[in-house]
Amino acid sequence: MPSLESLHFDNAFARLPEAFYARVCPTPVPDPYLVCHSPDAAALLDLDAAEMTRPETIQTLAGNRLLPGMETLAALYAGHQFGHYVPQLGDGRAILLGEVKNARGEGWEMQIKGAGRTPYSRGGDGRAVLRSSIREFLCSEAMHALGIPSTRALAIVGSDHPVYREDVETAALVTRLAPSFVRFGSFEVFYYRNQVEPIRHLADYVIARYYPDLKNLADPYPEFLRQVALRTAELMAQWQAVGFSHGVMNTDNMSILGLTLDYGPFGFLDAFDPGYVCNHSDSGGRYAFDQQPDVAAWNLTKLAQALVPLMSVETASQAIGEYPQAFSRAYLERMAAKFGLPPGGESAGLVMDALHLLAQNRVDYTLFLRRLCDFDSTAGALNSPLRDLVLDRAAFDAWAARYAAALRQQGSNDTERGTSMRAHNPKYILRNHLAETAIRRAADERDYSEVCRLHTLLTHPFDEQPQYAAYAAEPPDWARTIEVSCSS
Ligand code: AMP
Ligand code: MG
Repeated sequence: MPSLESLHFDNAFARLPEAFYARVCPTPVPDPYLVCHSPDAAALLDLDAAEMTRPETIQTLAGNRLLPGMETLAALYAGHQFGHYVPQLGDGRAILLGEVKNARGEGWEMQIKGAGRTPYSRGGDGRAVLRSSIREFLCSEAMHALGIPSTRALAIVGSDHPVYREDVETAALVTRLAPSFVRFGSFEVFYYRNQVEPIRHLADYVIARYYPDLKNLADPYPEFLRQVALRTAELMAQWQAVGFSHGVMNTDNMSILGLTLDYGPFGFLDAFDPGYVCNHSDSGGRYAFDQQPDVAAWNLTKLAQALVPLMSVETASQAIGEYPQAFSRAYLERMAAKFGLPPGGESAGLVMDALHLLAQNRVDYTLFLRRLCDFDSTAGALNSPLRDLVLDRAAFDAWAARYAAALRQQGSNDTERGTSMRAHNPKYILRNHLAETAIRRAADERDYSEVCRLHTLLTHPFDEQPQYAAYAAEPPDWARTIEVSCSS
C-alpha cells in the first residue's frame, strides 16, 4: 500500500484557465485530531487504515501540511438559491487539494470542506462546525453504501478552534472525494456574465473526462445535456425511493455528474410524509420531499439555459425533455423492486395506494418496507408485524389482500421475493436521531465512538446486523424537537 506522501497527483482542474477558480491555500487549524475515517473511501486512494491514522495524515487532512503535487484552489460558481439567481458563490470554505490518480487509473479529486476563507467566502468564516461535518461524513458514505451516487467522504478531523454560529462551536474539516465537483452553477456563472468561451471550455472539459462516449460526436453538447438530465432523473428516483430529502436543492448544489452533493440540512423520512421539509430555514417548503423531482426539473432548465450559447433554445429544451418520463420510469422500477412486484401492470397502483396508506397513518417508511420483505401472501394471512404499524387496520387489510392476490397471481415465492426485496429495502438509514446522538457525544464528551459505530453500521445498510437492531427502530419522542437548518 502506498503512503500518503507517495500519492500521485495529476490536477486537470488546475490546468483550466484561471477564470474557473482562485488559487488559495487552506488556513491551518490548531491541534487537529481524527474523528473518524472511511476505509472504503481510503481504498479509492489506495490508502490503508494505518495510513489514515498517522499524525502526518491528520495534519494534511486539516489543511496544515500540503503534499508535493497538490495545487490548491477554490472553484468559482454561481447558482439559483431558493429560486433567485446569485451571481457569485464559489467554494467559500471548500478547497480543492488536487486530483489523485489511483492504481486503477481512476482520478479522485480531493477537497477539504471547512478549510478556511477563500475569495468566494463573502461574509463567511470559511469554516464548518463539527456537527455538520459529522452529518456530511456519515451521509456521504451511507448514501454510497445504499447504492446512491454521491460525493465520498474520506475522513473528518476536528480542532478546538472556535467557530461562531448561533452558539460557539468547534471547527471540523471533511475531506471529500469525487471525480469532479463541477455543478450546474459552474456553467451558470459564465452565462450570466455573457461569456461564451468559458462555457464551451468547461463543457469540453466535462465531456472529455466524464462523458467520454460523447467526445467524438460532431455536436456533443445536446447529448451531454440530455445525459446530465438522465443521470439527474436516476438520482431523483433513488432519493425518492429511499426517502431522502436533500434540503437545499439550489443549482449550485446540483452535480454535473448526477451525484448527491453538499450535505447540509438533509433528512431521511421517518414517518412517511410527502410534504416533509427537513430544512428548518425553508419556511415556504420549496424543497419539501415530494417537490424534489420537480425542483430537479426546474434546475435542469437553468442548466439548459446556461448551455444555450452552445445550442439553440429548442435543442436545449428537447435535450432535457425526457427528464419527466425518465424520472417516472426509474422511480416506478425502483418502487416495484422494493415491493417485490414486476414493473408495470397493476404494480404502480399497489405502490401508490401503499404510499397513501403510509402517509395517512404516518407509518415509518423504512420499517414498513423492511417488514414487507417478510410478507406472507397466503390467503387470509394476518401479517401482524406489518399490520401493527398501521393504525387503520381495515385499510391495511384491504390493501394487503390486493397485494397478496397480485403476488399469488404472479406465482411469487415468498422466500425468494423476501431475499430479493431485502436488497432493495435497507434496514438501516441515517435517521436524524442517530446522527444527533453521535453528534452530542462527540461535541459534549469528545467521544467519537458513536460516529464510527454509525459509520460502520451504515456501510452495510441491507444486512440484518442483529447486534444493531435498536438502530433500525422508529425515532424516540425526543427526536421530534431536533431542528436542522442551513447553519453549518
Ligand atoms: P451551501 O449552502 O453550504 O451550499 O453554501 C452556499 C455558499 O455559501 C457556497 O458558496 C459556500 O461555499 C458558501 N458558504 C457556506 N458557509 C460558509 C462559511 N462558513 N464560510 C464561507 N463560505 C460559506
Ligand atoms: Mg453548496
